[in-house]
This record gives sequence, structure tokens and C-alpha cells, in this order.
Amino acid sequence: MVFEKANENLYLLIDESYYDTISCAIVLPSRLIMVDSGIHVPNMKKFRKHVEGETGKKFDTLILTHHHSDHVMGNQVFSDCTIIATKTVAQKLKNWKKDMTPEKLVRRKETLTDKSAFDGLEITIPTETFDDYMEIVDEDIKLVIKRTGGHTKGSTSVYCPKYRFLIAGDNLLSNFPPYGADPSSNPDVWINTLKEYLTLDVEKFIPGHGEVSTDKLVKYMIEVIEKIRDFIKKGVLTGKTKEDIVKEGYDKNFYPIDEDDSFEAHAMRYTLSNWYKFWGGKKT
Ligand SMILES: [Zn+2]
Repeated sequence: MVFEKANENLYLLIDESYYDTISCAIVLPSRLIMVDSGIHVPNMKKFRKHVEGETGKKFDTLILTHHHSDHVMGNQVFSDCTIIATKTVAQKLKNWKKDMTPEKLVRRKETLTDKSAFDGLEITIPTETFDDYMEIVDEDIKLVIKRTGGHTKGSTSVYCPKYRFLIAGDNLLSNFPPYGADPSSNPDVWINTLKEYLTLDVEKFIPGHGEVSTDKLVKYMIEVIEKIRDFIKKGVLTGKTKEDIVKEGYDKNFYPIDEDDSFEAHAMRYTLSNWYKFWGGKKT
């Protein structure tokens, strides 16, 4: 676990127990806002204590960028705060909690390098929802919270014009290929969302995994997703099967895959398969 300060107003927890998952603490004039709660309950407890200790301020709000478990497992650490998500994300998490079993948790834990991540876990869901847009204003600082979709239907960013950062959740990834395996992933919306990021006055882009980045990462992700789109659309037009697209697309190396990482390789194949369906590929 690494605690990092992106600047005076933004603390990050970068958790190596699962693909450097990033959770962010925003320092506002009178309060602290958390964005995502990570994959590791004990680490999140330490992070909260650290940030409150260093700033002398208290958290009162947690905002979730999307529903995937690597971004919400630490929600319980903020159970005394308002936990905000889009209606889409809140509904997903409600179902997730209902359907959770000890066996599923054990399987999830097997994917983590640190097996203490779920110690004392109590699955905790949002307490407040919004549709597509909301703002948090504290003195002269504004946070713009916007559902855009892309990586998932509920994917949401948090933008601070004054501090010039944008927290993108998994719409940005600096250490992993674009992950489009979620059934609600929409790569057309995703490209448009990334292009919209480029119109904002942002110095630091914070991805859902990896490291603090710049617009270089945004441009690179647009390029990768557009290359995959062009390849799949052409394949669909010429009658290629899903199997062709997955095999040929994988071999084209649109993103340098770490072959030793079976999940990364699997994720790329699954994304190709899912997006083949998205762009009108045959059902069989
Ligand atoms: Zn993630």
C-alpha cells in the first residue's frame, strides 16, 4: 500500500494488492471527500486515519465512481458518512450485496496478493443517489460529479476546476488495457467521454488503476479503443465470427499485454468478445 500526495489537496491510496487500485481523498476548505473505497478494508482504515490526522479535517462524504468490487470494498470505513453513487451504481451494489455468498468472497480473495484485504468486511451500500450530475461546493471550491458511462453504465468522474484534477475511475487505466468486459460497457460512449475530458482544464488525471497521469494517457486510451473499434467494425462487415475477432484482435496487440498475467490476457479477450457483440457481431 502506498500513500501518495498528488498535490496539497489530493491524497491517494494506491493499493498493490490488486492492480494498484487508486482511491482518492479530496481536501476541501472545511471537510474531506473520499472518492472510491478500494479493495482492502484494513488499508482503507489506515488511509482514513492518516489523512484525517494530517489535515485535521473530517470525512463526511464518499463518492463511488462505479460498482466494481475493487472500488467499493472499503465502503464500511465511511459508514458514518454520506455514501453517494448514481442510481445505476446503487442498484448494482444492492443486488451485489443481496447475492453475495461466503464462497464468492473466498473466490474474490484468491485474486488478491494480500489475503487480509477482507478482514472484518461488512458489505456497505450507498445511502444517497443521483441521476447524472451533481455538484459539491465548499467555500470557493467546486466538485463536478458527472455520470458519463463508458467502462460501465454508471461510470462517474469527479472534476475539480480549481485544483485542476479529474478522478476518472476505470474510464482511465494506466497499467491495464481498456476493460470492456462489463455487460454495460459502451465503447462509443467511452471514446466520447475521454474526448470530453480533453476539453477540461485538467493538470492531473487520476485513473482507477496505476499512477497519476496527464492528458497523454487520455489520448493513448482514445487511440487504443478507436483501433479496437475500427478492427471490430471492419470484421463485422466482412462477416468474421466472434472467435476470429477474439483471436486476430488479441494477436494484433492493440495494447501490450503482459502474457504472464492470465487475468490481463483474459480481460483483453473478453473485451474483444463483448465489443464484437456491441458493434453488431453475429450472436453465434
Ligand atoms: Zn477497477
